[in-house]
Amino acid sequence: MIRDGRVAAVGAQAKVEALPEARAAERLAVQGRVILPGFVDSHTHLVHAASRAEEYELKIAGASYEEIARRGGGILNSVKKLRAATSEALKQRARAALRGFAAHGTTTIEAKSGYGLDVTSELKILGLHQELQREQPLEIVSTFLGAHVVPAEYRGTPDGPQRYVALLINRLIPEVADRKLAEFCDVFCDRGAFSRGQSEQVLEAAARHGLQPRIHAEQLTRTGATQLAVHLGAASCDHLEFVNQADMRALAKSKTVATLLPGCDFHLGLKRYAPARGLIDAGAIVALATDYNPGTSPTLSMPMVLSLACTQLRMTPAEGIVAATINAAYALRREKEVGSLEIGKLADIGVFKVEDYREIPYYFGVNKCWMTLKRGKIISHAVDADPAS
Ligand SMILES: [Zn+2]
Repeated sequence: MIRDGRVAAVGAQAKVEALPEARAAERLAVQGRVILPGFVDSHTHLVHAASRAEEYELKIAGASYEEIARRGGGILNSVKKLRAATSEALKQRARAALRGFAAHGTTTIEAKSGYGLDVTSELKILGLHQELQREQPLEIVSTFLGAHVVPAEYRGTPDGPQRYVALLINRLIPEVADRKLAEFCDVFCDRGAFSRGQSEQVLEAAARHGLQPRIHAEQLTRTGATQLAVHLGAASCDHLEFVNQADMRALAKSKTVATLLPGCDFHLGLKRYAPARGLIDAGAIVALATDYNPGTSPTLSMPMVLSLACTQLRMTPAEGIVAATINAAYALRREKEVGSLEIGKLADIGVFKVEDYREIPYYFGVNKCWMTLKRGKIISHAVDADPAS
């Protein structure tokens, strides 16, 4: 039962229907369907200007992510497009994506800046997070990712990268924090992006301004970013394809969530997925997210991510759903509000047209989400989702 957008009672039908308040309640018939807490997608790059389909054949032919970047593709390609785009165009694209997230059962997302990489464009993206939060039903948790890569205009001289880090620390982080444009600060700590030392400088500055750290860690190579995340008490470290045993043990002893993004490895055609079993068996808190972005993971479907988690990461459907709901809520430090259907929490709900929860990852490439509720209100409803199967 739902009251004022929150879960008021849960349990067997007869028991809930016997409550005095239930008599006057409006009834929503979902018989024969599976109900889950709305997915929490704890890692997305929501605001970007366009796809990078022009790089797709290169990827298929085997060019590495870094090779594509050297040829003028990659993140800097998206930066060029974003800087040239109007706020209205960016917003329209993001709005359509948010409807797509909702249609797949997602009710809360994290969103990172990071395709602006200059003061004006980064602030523009974070401002859009705020506007979109007000104008549509999904909750958007904003993260500042100025340290995505070093922008082109800082690449000409040896001290360029350090001057960009200084811009982040002295100018952008204080302004983002002052204007409350983000809750978290993220850094892409990897080969071709930022070193462990630079990442530490950025995240320590962010923490001093009240922005909680999170890190893109060990995606292309092992840099020690996971150990840095644990050392800084980061909310999450994400990717983790190249973690080693010591990293997994460190995560297991920490409150830093290991967020796995199998959509990236799938889209890039990489065979190396993060060691989900090792992390779970060590006792780490594992979350799953789409990493929705135009370069490495153009999907907003958490059910697809669950399919990949089961088949490629060897997680069970139950482990996958936990990772996509309550653990992901913890990665955003929202575990008291969302991520499970308990009395007092937000009535954020995904309804799936399946008879068994295992069928959610079992079917892949089709959307079985039938209805999505945010704060008890229907925000998405597929009248006849995928009637054939
Ligand atoms: Zn990412």
